[in-house]
Amino acid sequence: MRSHSNGLTANSNEEFDGIGLARAKRDGANPVVLNDDDQRKLNPNRQRQNLKAQSRIEIVRVPAWLDLPWLVHGFSTRTGGETTVYSPAQRAGELNLGFTASDPKKTVLANRKVFVTAVTQNAEAPSLVTLKQIHSSVTYVISKADTGDEAKRKGDGMMTCKADILLGIQTADCIPVLIADRKKRAVAAFHAGWRGTLKRIVENGIGRMRLEFGSRPEDLVAAIGPGIGACCYAVGEEVRMEFESQFRYAPKLFSEVYDTNPVKEKYPMLFLTARAPGHSNLGPSLHLDLVEANRRQLLDSGINAENIYVQGDCTSCRPDRYFSHRAEHGFTGRSLSVIGIRKIKKA
Ligand SMILES: [Zn+2]
Repeated sequence: MRSHSNGLTANSNEEFDGIGLARAKRDGANPVVLNDDDQRKLNPNRQRQNLKAQSRIEIVRVPAWLDLPWLVHGFSTRTGGETTVYSPAQRAGELNLGFTASDPKKTVLANRKVFVTAVTQNAEAPSLVTLKQIHSSVTYVISKADTGDEAKRKGDGMMTCKADILLGIQTADCIPVLIADRKKRAVAAFHAGWRGTLKRIVENGIGRMRLEFGSRPEDLVAAIGPGIGACCYAVGEEVRMEFESQFRYAPKLFSEVYDTNPVKEKYPMLFLTARAPGHSNLGPSLHLDLVEANRRQLLDSGINAENIYVQGDCTSCRPDRYFSHRAEHGFTGRSLSVIGIRKIKKA
């Protein structure tokens, strides 16, 4: 949990889930967290085969966005689902939502179905559209749902003003950014790792929203979901050089962190060859704050600071709750961050 210079402080998970649940109940909507009974009601056919998946699906939501009835959104966690490959010791299944090499496709499809149903609270869930993500600044306007299982488009951002399409960004440490236009009723989702952030995926994406939908920055609300924090995101010096060539505020994004491993401090010679060249283990390591970098892009795009929600969880600090590429040395699943427009039936 980190706070930012604009005074926004992310709620803790417990607080947040509590608020989300309480609000949803108060507003007469279904609770944001589905327990197994709820899931079985929604998917009666899966009652038998779902014996392994006894953990609850938890969805992280933006509290202020619960007041927008037309908006569907959520960030997944790893709890719930049928995946067992990443935590074999754990009896309950996990919610891997990306087609990884180690998780069977049918498991991921089942997980996606359960997640989309839970997020939308709709058994006839809208079509989920994902991308083959390539750390670019390439974005797509989605007007018709890609109904295939696999991502056919290569890129890192999507936007739409059409209802019943769910835009999904997959991450396992990278930063998911969701944006909604409250006036024009348009939504967008972006995948921002360091390369995409450097290429200004979010700034470019908002520029395209203005072009495609006539979005005005003052009508936009944005959410930065769980991702790797500055606490854990050690990068090479070349990354700092690249950022310094692109952003005037780059110095504020990097910090030098000293290794606190007492064995390393006492016997530094033992670790001389432990890292690749360029990653000295004697000096401080360089950490990048990708969340702040993307918050800056949102601000530079004209979005008001009070309309930017920073969830604040570090995925690498919390591999119990999120899939983390760093914390799990590359062998992990994928979270899904989704946003879409709900068709509202006129009374
Ligand atoms: Zn961390």
